[in-house]
Amino acid sequence: MNIYLTRLAAAAIAATGALCAHASADPDSRFASWPAYRGDDLELRVADGHTSFALWSPEAEAARVMLYDTGRGTPATDTIAMTRAEQGLWRASVPGELYGKYYTFSIRHGGRWLDETPGIWAKAVGVGGKRAAIIDLASTDPEGWDADRGPEVGHITDAVIYEMHHRDMSMHPSSGIVHKGKFLALTEPGTTSPEGLATGIDHLKELGVTHVHILPSYDYNSVDETNLPAGEYNWGYDPQNYNAPEGSYSTDPADPARRIAEMKRMVKALHDAGIGVVMDVVYNHTAEGDGSNFSLTAPGYFYRHRPDGSYSDASGCGNETASDRAMMSDFIVNSVKYWAQEYHIDGFRFDLMAIHDTETMNRVAAELKAINPSIFVYGEGWTAGDSPLPAERRALKENVAKMQGIAVFSDDIRDAVKGHYSRADDRGFATGKPGSEETVKIGIVASTAHPQVDYSKGNNSKFAYATSPEQIINYVSCHDDLTLTDKLAASMPGSTEAERRRAARLAQTIVFTSQGTPFMFAGEEIFRDKKGVHNSYKSPDSINAIDWSLKAANADQYDYYRGLIALRRAHPAFRLTSADDIVRHIVFDKTDVPNLISYSIKDNAGGDEWKEIKLVFNGSTEPREVKIPRGEWMVVARDGRIAPDGTLGTLRGGRVTVEPTSALILARR
Ligand code: CA
Repeated sequence: MNIYLTRLAAAAIAATGALCAHASADPDSRFASWPAYRGDDLELRVADGHTSFALWSPEAEAARVMLYDTGRGTPATDTIAMTRAEQGLWRASVPGELYGKYYTFSIRHGGRWLDETPGIWAKAVGVGGKRAAIIDLASTDPEGWDADRGPEVGHITDAVIYEMHHRDMSMHPSSGIVHKGKFLALTEPGTTSPEGLATGIDHLKELGVTHVHILPSYDYNSVDETNLPAGEYNWGYDPQNYNAPEGSYSTDPADPARRIAEMKRMVKALHDAGIGVVMDVVYNHTAEGDGSNFSLTAPGYFYRHRPDGSYSDASGCGNETASDRAMMSDFIVNSVKYWAQEYHIDGFRFDLMAIHDTETMNRVAAELKAINPSIFVYGEGWTAGDSPLPAERRALKENVAKMQGIAVFSDDIRDAVKGHYSRADDRGFATGKPGSEETVKIGIVASTAHPQVDYSKGNNSKFAYATSPEQIINYVSCHDDLTLTDKLAASMPGSTEAERRRAARLAQTIVFTSQGTPFMFAGEEIFRDKKGVHNSYKSPDSINAIDWSLKAANADQYDYYRGLIALRRAHPAFRLTSADDIVRHIVFDKTDVPNLISYSIKDNAGGDEWKEIKLVFNGSTEPREVKIPRGEWMVVARDGRIAPDGTLGTLRGGRVTVEPTSALILARR
């Protein structure tokens, strides 16, 4: 998530928080004695002719349930007092299975009744997400759902991840997609651009990615679901209801079952195409502070606070949640398990993961793996501000060795290859700026220890923080900050588009051949841009939507990306699974020229059919000569072209010229 995005909202929420400040050295110490409830029937259970409610709110003085006939705007048909029960619970039960009805809770706290809330476990909600809906979840399953499975993934390093926003992918008229901006967009086969090239799900299959990473798709706060024709856009890093899908991606947000059914249809269509679905999850903060469902359910408990009682703000969005407390930790674990089980989600990307504690993240990974060993978890190993959680407990990039089954984004390779993420004009290794060679090498070995990599020269991290390549996600751009296309335009003044496209190819070649797991932003394979807007979280579709006519206009770029992905997927040498294997098989050549890296992956690494792969990256604008060992080499990539089967010709070794801003990849059996 972008740290700039909600500065204004942050200020507003922080001000509200200060009003209810308690004067205490550690306002959060009292929560340690609160009872935790470990049952799986929280909030709603429909069974045996009864509808039962169970709200966890230890400090409430009273609690009640309101029943409604509609999702918004109508008066309650019934108000039921809840009874204090075990472990901080309040319970109520009514006869009848109330499918089709809606409900909210309200608690009395500090002598007054708080605003109504759908609770924190609403699995279906009315339009706008203010009331929970009682539906039969089984009725939302698409045909064949019981047999639905995502792709089997032995190691996360086998994945090729494609990050996309639902609207970016389908809103542009050139997408040829009917259900624009909807979950259903990715269920439409046979869609094409005006030039007749595949778009949508067919495009994903053709490109060869293994997983689609969808930006936040739980119910978020910002887009007005009652006014969809307004066409509002938001990334969705403003969580409202964590366990129900976002309504604006549904063809009818007023029908609580529809959004669930349509999201499942999307997952099934992708699974049928052999593609997994990773969901971006944002448990680290909520859109509202005092008005959030957490606050209206158990005031204070789910957040961290400063000594003056105000919200602490490691998210930069006005508050931060408290995964170090039992019920918040359970909430995160149970929520991702719910998405994995009910929606068959194949992976989770944790926003600002370092706001969470390593212990919670270890539970997340372990419990998800128990459901489906192919599920993987990765996240941003940083915060956007300071936190009361001690640094050694945070799920930071630097603490990734303390976590099992969790990967972190490598800002090392990102900034080293293309230049600093927020200084638009800064260049990197692939764009001719010297000084980042060693940091690119850190990326190549997936931040693991390697005798030929000097971490003291790293731009960002100064030590080998990963103990396995499975802990690293490599990338050069994502939804945050400038797209690669815009970054190259901003940092290469006076360049031609052809030169910038060469730079993009070199940059992504480094990412896709490095150890670790590659990740790319949707549309970069056709050189999409965002008109130079770096923080497009609420920019209109005219900025964010991918123009699919670029696929024909930039056909050679697309072919290169497709070849790069095919190369990686065909060769386990790029997907080693242990730090030992990296030390054993990767050998760097001595080069004393700036912006030049040459290395080999040797000895049939990972069981590869190729005995040796030689990779040379020339990030300078001059041709460079390198010495290649004698013998016959297949040319896999050269001068901005790629052939994953090594059919660009052969080369005898000796002195070889590597063209400016390009990768040379050779292989021999
Ligand atoms: Ca919403």
